[in-house]
Amino acid sequence: TRWVYAFGGGGADGDASMKNLLGGKGANLAEMSSLGLPVPPGFTITTEACVHYYANDRQYPADLKEQVAVGLKRVEELTGKTFGDPANPLLVSVRSGARASMPGMMDTVLNLGLNDETVDGLAKLSGDRRFAFDSYRRFIQMYSNVVLNLDHHMFEEILDEHKDRLDVTIDTALSADDWEAVVADYKAAVQRELGKPFPQEVNAQLWGAVGAVFASWMNDRAKFYRRMHDIPESWGTAVNVQSMVFGNMGETSATGVAFTRNPSTGENRLYGEFLINAQGEDVVAGIRTPQALTRIAREEMGEKQPSMEEALPDVFVQFKAVVEKLEKHYRDMQDIEFTVEKGRLYMLQTRNGKRTAKAALKVAVDLASEGLITREEAVMRVEPSSLDQLLHPTIDPASPREVITSGLPASPGAATGKVVFTAEEAEKLGGAGEAVILVREETSPEDIRGMDAARGIVTARGGMTSHAAVVARGMGRPCVSGAGEIHIDMKAGEFHARGRTIKAYEIVTIDGSTGEVLSGAVKMVEPELSGDFATLMAWADGVRRLKVRANAETALDAKVARQFGAEGIGLCRTEHMFFDPDRIAAVREMILADDEAGRRQALAKILPMQRQDFVELFHIMEGLPVTIRLLDPPLHEFLPHSEEDVRAVAEATGLDAAKLLRRAQELHEVNPMLGHRGCRLGVSYPEIYEMQVRAIIEAACEVAAAGRPAPIPEIMHPLVAKGEEMKFLRQLTDRTAKEVIAERKAEIQYQVGTMVELPRACVRAGDLAENAEFFSFGTNDLTQTTFGISRDDSGRFLNAYIEKGIFERDPFVSLDQEGVGDLIRLAAERGRAVRPNVKLGICGEHGGDPASIQFCESVGLDYVSCSAYRVPIARLAAAQAAI
Ligand code: PEP
Ligand code: MG
Repeated sequence: TRWVYAFGGGGADGDASMKNLLGGKGANLAEMSSLGLPVPPGFTITTEACVHYYANDRQYPADLKEQVAVGLKRVEELTGKTFGDPANPLLVSVRSGARASMPGMMDTVLNLGLNDETVDGLAKLSGDRRFAFDSYRRFIQMYSNVVLNLDHHMFEEILDEHKDRLDVTIDTALSADDWEAVVADYKAAVQRELGKPFPQEVNAQLWGAVGAVFASWMNDRAKFYRRMHDIPESWGTAVNVQSMVFGNMGETSATGVAFTRNPSTGENRLYGEFLINAQGEDVVAGIRTPQALTRIAREEMGEKQPSMEEALPDVFVQFKAVVEKLEKHYRDMQDIEFTVEKGRLYMLQTRNGKRTAKAALKVAVDLASEGLITREEAVMRVEPSSLDQLLHPTIDPASPREVITSGLPASPGAATGKVVFTAEEAEKLGGAGEAVILVREETSPEDIRGMDAARGIVTARGGMTSHAAVVARGMGRPCVSGAGEIHIDMKAGEFHARGRTIKAYEIVTIDGSTGEVLSGAVKMVEPELSGDFATLMAWADGVRRLKVRANAETALDAKVARQFGAEGIGLCRTEHMFFDPDRIAAVREMILADDEAGRRQALAKILPMQRQDFVELFHIMEGLPVTIRLLDPPLHEFLPHSEEDVRAVAEATGLDAAKLLRRAQELHEVNPMLGHRGCRLGVSYPEIYEMQVRAIIEAACEVAAAGRPAPIPEIMHPLVAKGEEMKFLRQLTDRTAKEVIAERKAEIQYQVGTMVELPRACVRAGDLAENAEFFSFGTNDLTQTTFGISRDDSGRFLNAYIEKGIFERDPFVSLDQEGVGDLIRLAAERGRAVRPNVKLGICGEHGGDPASIQFCESVGLDYVSCSAYRVPIARLAAAQAAI
C-alpha cells in the first residue's frame, strides 16, 4: 500500500480530487504544486495510515517508515538541505489535515528538526542567531506541549521570569543570548518534569510528532467537533510534513491570510491581512495589528502601516496573479495562507472559503455571471437552510451579546421587546403598538392571538415541534423554545434564569436562529429580498420539478406566502379560525349543545364567518390551489379548563359555568392525540364538517361570481385510517357540495382528499385512494404515530438519543427516511396503483426541511408545503433535489 504522497517542486503524486485519502489540506497542496505554484516541498501521510493505526492497536503500517524516509529524501533534494545536518539543516512542519476542515481541533508542530547542533546551522544559514534561538524555543514549547503533553503554562512562566529579569515586556526585546538562556531553562524544565532530556534525535522528533497528530484525532475537542458537524470518526486524519519557510526573517519576510472575495459580503475584491516579519501564529494570536493587503483597503480603513501592495510591491504582483489563478482553477472563492521568506512567495494552503449566507448568494450569482460556473452550479452553491438568515431581521454580528439564557432555535430571526407573561397582555400591549416578547412556560392554541401580537416568543418547555415552535415558524415570529433554565414567577411578575431576575416589561432580545435570549435591545440587520436573492431564486425555479406551497390560514400568512413565491396553499388548518374571539363563543355553544339540533344552531352562527375566511384566502390566492383541512383538534381544546377561566368565560358569554366545567371534564381524554380528533369528529358530528364544506363551496361560488379567478378548493380530511372512513367522508362532502352548487347554480370544481398521517393509512393507501383524489402526508402526526413518540413532549428525551447517536437528527425536524419515509413510499405506490393521477404532497414540518425535500423528490411527490417563511428555502432545496 502506498501511505505517502509527495508534493512540491512543480509536481505532486496526488491532486484535489483525493481529499478522502490526503485530507483537504494535503489534496490542495498537491493540486497547487501541480499548477506550478510555489509550494514548499513535502509529503502527506494518508488518512488510511491513520485508520490502520487505530485498527491495529496504534501501530504504524510496517512499510510506513520506509516510505516516509523516501519522501523526506525527496524534500532534501528539492530544498538542498538535510534533515538533522548541523551545517545545513532541513526544518519541517507537521500538521493534521482531515477530509473536512476541523479548524484548530487537532495538533501541529512547527520548526521540527531543531536541536542543540542544528540551531547553530540555522543561525549560520539565516545569518541571524537571534531568529535561530527564537525558533528553537518556539519548537521546544510546541513539541513539549503537543507531543510530550507538558503544560504550556510552565514555559510561559519561564519566559516571564526572563522578561522580569531583563525588565522588558515584549518578546522582540530579547536578544540572541537571552533566547539561548530561555532555551536552556526550557530544556532543564523538560528534564525535570519527564526525568529525561528533550529529544535531540531528529527522526525521533518526527515520529513523535506524527504519532501526536494521529492521537489528536481522538482528543476531546476533535471528538466534540465531529459530533457537532456529523464527521465520522472512521475517516481519520492525514499528516502533512512540509519544509518550513519563515515569514520572520526580517523586513522582506511576511506571513498572511487572504480571501479572493470578501467572505462576509461576497464583494469581488481581494480581502485579508498580513504581518511583516512574523510567523503564521502571530497573525492569529492578535498581538500585533495586521496590515491590509491592498492600498485601497488600507486607505479605506484609514490605516497608517503600509499595505502588502506598498511594502512588498514585486511579491504582491506575483501574489495577485497566483490568487486569481487559484480562484479560476477552483471556480470558487478561496481562503489562502501564504508566507514570504526574504522576498520569495510561498503558498501554504488554499481551500474553498467559508462565508456568510449573504456572501454565498452574491459569490454564486457573480461567479455564474462571470461565466466561471453554470447557473445550475450556482443554485447548488447556496445552502438552502442558510436563506433563513436572509429572510428575517437578524442580529448584527458585530454587536455584543449579553446572554440571559438559551434554549432551542425554534424559529429563526431576531426580535426585541418588553417581556410579558400572558397572551392577553401581549395582545393588549402589542395591539397598542408596543413591541413585546411573550415568555411562557409553554403555549397552547388559546395563546395564538397573543403570539401573533408579540414580536417573539420564548417558552421554558417544549421541543422543535411544540405548539409554540410550529405556530411561531408559521407566523415568521422568532421563537426560542425549551429554555429550561427559565423559571417564571407569575405572582412576582418576573422570571429567573442563571441566577438573574428579569422583571415584566424589561427589554430583551431573542435570537431564534441560535436559541439565545439576550439582555436589552441589540442592533439588527434587515433582510434583502431583491437583487442576488431574486436572481438565484429565479434560476432555482427554472430547474425544479416539485411545486412549493405554503401552510397558511390567515390573510397575512397567505400574502407573505405569495410574496415568497408559494404556488398555492398546501394546508389551511381551520381550527385556528375557531379561536377568533368573535366566534369562540359560538364554538363553545356548539360543544355544549345537548343534541344535533343545538349544535346545528350554533354552527349556523359560525358559517358566515368561516365563509368569509375562505373568500379572503381565495381572493389572495387568485386561482392557485388551496387545500383546506376540516377541523382536527379534540374539542376540549376550545374549552376553558381551570375553574378561574371557566368563571371568566361564563361571565363573558352567559354560558352556564357548571355546564362548561362538566363538559370539559367529560371531554377529558388520557391520550387526546390518539383520541376523539381528526375525521373522527366528522364521523360523530357530521354537521360540523357539513358546515365547513358548505362555507368552502359557498366562498368559492362567491369569488367566482365576482368575476375573480375561480378557486379550486381541495377539501381535506385529517387522520383518516380506513377506506370506509374515507368513503363516509367523501359522501358527506359531495352531498353537501352538490347541495350548495345546486342552490347557487354555480359551476365550481373541487377536490376531496385526505391527510395521510397514520401508519394504517399508508399501508391501506389503496383503500383510501378509492375515494381520495389527493393525499397530503401529515408527517408530524405520521412521525408521532410511527415511532409512538409524542411530538409535544419528546424534547425531554430526544437529546439523549441524539447525543448517544441513536437518532442522527430530531425526526420531527428531518424526516426519518428509512422508517416514516418508507411508509410514504409505500403509500404513494399503493395509492397510485388504485388512482394513477392521485395528487401527492407533504404538509408536515418536514415540507420545509431540505433533506426531507430531497426525499420527496425521490419519491416523486407533486408538491411540498411549508410555513410561508420557509418557502424560498423549499424552492431552492427542490431545485437542488432536481439537479
Ligand atoms: C401533520 O400532522 O403533519 C400535520 C400537518 O397536521 P398537524 O400538524 O396540524 O397535526
Ligand atoms: Mg396532523
